[in-house]
Amino acid sequence: MDPFAPIQPASPAPGSGAPSVPCTRCGAPVDPARATYGEGGGLVCPRCAAGETIAAGEARAGGQILSACVGSVVFALFSLLCFNPLLLFSLLAVVSGAFGLTSLLRQPEYKRSLGESKYGLGVVLAVLGILGGLGTAALHLLAFGLRSAF
Ligand SMILES: [Zn+2]
Repeated sequence: MDPFAPIQPASPAPGSGAPSVPCTRCGAPVDPARATYGEGGGLVCPRCAAGETIAAGEARAGGQILSACVGSVVFALFSLLCFNPLLLFSLLAVVSGAFGLTSLLRQPEYKRSLGESKYGLGVVLAVLGILGGLGTAALHLLAFGLRSAF
């Protein structure tokens, strides 16, 4: 055999009726040379790979919004139980809660990625955080007003 002969590809070029493997997600035939590996380690078609990427990004964003809702309540508790210089922690509670609440209500698709119960929990926590932040701000202002009045 001629050692300088061009190497023949083992499989025919893509698009020429090449033998294909089914996508492990949707079962659509995919060219193994073009397929990528999904989260489970199986070959997936480009469409399913893009879907996995979007789902992962949505889950990450949903988690961040949920953290903002939890943080809002934590800031509200902190502003009530600890010191609250310049109403800073009340302000943080209101801002964080408003961000979480508007993000959840404006983008209902997070209901799907977070799940019904976590979505509801996030909305409740955000409302509690906003009310708590406003309440402690009012308490501090009232206390300050009473102190300066007498
Ligand atoms: Zn697929």
